[in-house]
Amino acid sequence: MPHIRILLFLFFSLKMFSNVPIANADTPSRKAILKLTVVATTKLAESKFEQSLATARLALRYAIDRNDDELIAKSYNTIAANFEELSEIDKAVFYYKKGLSYADKTNNDTIKNSLNNNIGNVYCFELNNLSEGINYYQKALEYSSKINDSKGAYITKMNIAWAYFYKGSFNKGKPYLDFINTHQSELDDKETIVAVNMLNGMFFTNKLEFDKADSFFKKAIILGKEGNEQSDLLYVYEEYANLLMKKGDYKMAYENLVLYNSIKKVLEDSNKLKKANVVGLNLELDEYKRKVDTIENEINLQDISLQKSRIIVILFIIAFSVVLLLLYNFYRNNRFKKKKNAELIIANEKLFIAKERAEEASHLKSQFVSTISHELRTPLYGVVGITNLLLDEHKELADSPHLASLKFSARYLLCLVNDVLQINKIEENRIVLESLTFNLADEINLIKNSLSFIAKSHKNHINVSIDPAIPEYLIGDKLRFSQIIINMVSNALKFTNNGEVNIKADLVRIENKAHFIEFNIEDNGVGIAEEDQEKIFEKFVQIGRKEIDYQGTGLGLSIVKRLLELFDSTISLKSKTGEGTTFTFTIAFDHDPIKTMELINKIQVDLSSSEIFKVLVVDDNKINQLITKKIIEKNNCKSRVVDSGMAALAILETEKFDIILMDINMPLMNGFETTKRIRQKGIVTPVIAVTAFDKEEISEEALSAGINDIIIKPFEPVLLFKTINQLLYGENKTELV
Ligand code: ADP
Repeated sequence: MPHIRILLFLFFSLKMFSNVPIANADTPSRKAILKLTVVATTKLAESKFEQSLATARLALRYAIDRNDDELIAKSYNTIAANFEELSEIDKAVFYYKKGLSYADKTNNDTIKNSLNNNIGNVYCFELNNLSEGINYYQKALEYSSKINDSKGAYITKMNIAWAYFYKGSFNKGKPYLDFINTHQSELDDKETIVAVNMLNGMFFTNKLEFDKADSFFKKAIILGKEGNEQSDLLYVYEEYANLLMKKGDYKMAYENLVLYNSIKKVLEDSNKLKKANVVGLNLELDEYKRKVDTIENEINLQDISLQKSRIIVILFIIAFSVVLLLLYNFYRNNRFKKKKNAELIIANEKLFIAKERAEEASHLKSQFVSTISHELRTPLYGVVGITNLLLDEHKELADSPHLASLKFSARYLLCLVNDVLQINKIEENRIVLESLTFNLADEINLIKNSLSFIAKSHKNHINVSIDPAIPEYLIGDKLRFSQIIINMVSNALKFTNNGEVNIKADLVRIENKAHFIEFNIEDNGVGIAEEDQEKIFEKFVQIGRKEIDYQGTGLGLSIVKRLLELFDSTISLKSKTGEGTTFTFTIAFDHDPIKTMELINKIQVDLSSSEIFKVLVVDDNKINQLITKKIIEKNNCKSRVVDSGMAALAILETEKFDIILMDINMPLMNGFETTKRIRQKGIVTPVIAVTAFDKEEISEEALSAGINDIIIKPFEPVLLFKTINQLLYGENKTELV
């Protein structure tokens, strides 16, 4: 058993650390643990295996506590060497490899060198696995060259040579033998000198150079005897006997074998003793292995739990960070929300205030428009009325340009007021189309006639062309329709001179009762430039207004457009400057003979009456009183005029009237209140409100006060008598719409 190889390495360790003092066991320093490993190695060299193992185990425990890979590797090395000595080869290999795994984690090449060499020994000489053993030796050589450990390299190479020779591979072992031969003298190593001579003897024996071999063996024997190297001498005698046998010197061979046997016996006896000790130790060894394994397991468990707690800590940190992040986000969101909420509340409040203000403004606007139009209509009533009276009473003034211009101006103002009022009503969605029966051709011809004055003044000719397919009677809002046609045709007439204005109506399609009629108002006048064609439908837009006598408010087309929207229609135009303009739109009127008959029956009025009515006029405005009185008297009726509600009530106590014309806006007692009181007295005489207010505006209040109808000032005299007739002889005396 060539144990020499291992022990040599252990002694190195001992030499290297023999100066390290032992520290307090409770708090072992690194040095103290190192000292323990050295003690363990020493005990091993003294074959005190039990003590060596106990010390190595203690060193291992502390080394593990300190997490010191180098010391752990050293401890395992000693433990493994103990097992090798005790012929527990499996355990030895197990612990050597464990040691190597820890050594590999360190930068300590000495311990790596030692462990690789020791494992190489076990593989080559115990496990009979030369190639594996040589691999470990080669690794050991790499480390020894790295740290410049020439003695370590020398011993490993000697082991390699021996291992090859042992297996009969002399050629492979030769280079290593050469190396140790060269370096033996340099190192002058007493402990290996016997083995070196023996190896040379073996080599030359194999080469059959017996004399050389003989001299090496003899030298080995002398040196072995000098140093009392019994185990070396054993191999030397055996190999020398081998040489002598080959030489044929059987006698000498026999003598050497006797010597070999005697040494072997001594060694075997000591081996037996060791084995006996091992037998005694076996139980403890197993127990010892368990303890070492327990330490390992503990450290593994510690590692795992450390790992786990690390993971837990990391997870906790991650979770904590996430929670913190979420909290921060939540906090920010909350703050953001609060801020936004506050802003929204403020914005809402502002919006609410703005809405209220807008509503108030819109209300004020309509109030303003209605008040203004009322205020304007009243004096206009006077102006228009008096102008008419003047023309009636003084025929000689009929040609007066001043009077004509007065009449024109008054009418213009009246148109403007009416237009403004109407657009205001459309914009407030206060207009609902009515269903009246009418004859389209009659309506258009009526318009043609009423506009003949403008036609004449511009030297124009109006042509009407009605599609014969259009039914005689249609149902629809004829007043609004007429208003559209009047606006269109009067525009065509105004912007054409010496020309033609064509009014065309064509039936384009029928859907159930709805008859879709396309209207074209065509002229060959000044035309409208392309860039102006959109603009003209806006309010108060007048393009290139040059003539001072030009009539128009700039509201006509925007009223037309809005009225057509009520009819679910749109207007389009084709025009070229200097060539003329054509406006086109389509309106669906119903054609329903049964309904038409009903409507006709409803409005039949006997207007043939030539009765003389007695009319009470209640009005605080002196001019209006005068005009109304004149209109009544001109129609051969009688009238009494009072200027207040109180006076009206008083006169009604004594006198009877056929009709009462009641102004609404009067000081002290207005027209509604006066009518109420008249009705309270049980007087049923029809009351017509004659007012500058808009009809829709007051109709509800008028009805509840007991007023029968409303006429808006200024009015055409014919309308007044039509209404009187209707009230006195018609069916719907209290219908105000
Ligand atoms: P106005 O009351 O001034 O006629 P409108 O709204 O009816 O207002 O018309 C707006 C403008 O459109 C007019 O001033 C005129 O310039 C132009 N316009 C309307 N109809 C015609 C037409 N048939 N030929 C030429 N220009 C027209």
